[in-house]
Amino acid sequence: MSIDTVRYRTLLLQERERVERAIETLREDHAGRMDEEVAEIGAAHDNHLADTATVTLDREIDYTLEENSGRLLVEIDAALGRIEAGTYGTCATCGGEIAAERLDAYPWASLCIADARQAERR
Ligand SMILES: [Zn+2]
Repeated sequence: MSIDTVRYRTLLLQERERVERAIETLREDHAGRMDEEVAEIGAAHDNHLADTATVTLDREIDYTLEENSGRLLVEIDAALGRIEAGTYGTCATCGGEIAAERLDAYPWASLCIADARQAERR
């Protein structure tokens, strides 16, 4: 196998750091916004339903991001584990090689393009 695992390990570790920082930023953002909201509710009471709905929607989007980031961290760790195990770059479904262009774009990919598309359709 001709996969440069040293390079991909570096990519994965960089991505891991980036995602962790993003999650931290999101958490700090939540904390700040909570305080603002409490102040707002105290001042405006219940005739600002529209504003409240917007705030709720914003927060849902953030939670989704946080959830996705958390899932990405799990996948990055799994990929690092596959590098250690020597199975990195092998499709978990068909056992074929994952294309280098795919690993460059998604270093944590565990499926080849064909199997990833199939998994999405399920
Ligand atoms: Zn496959």
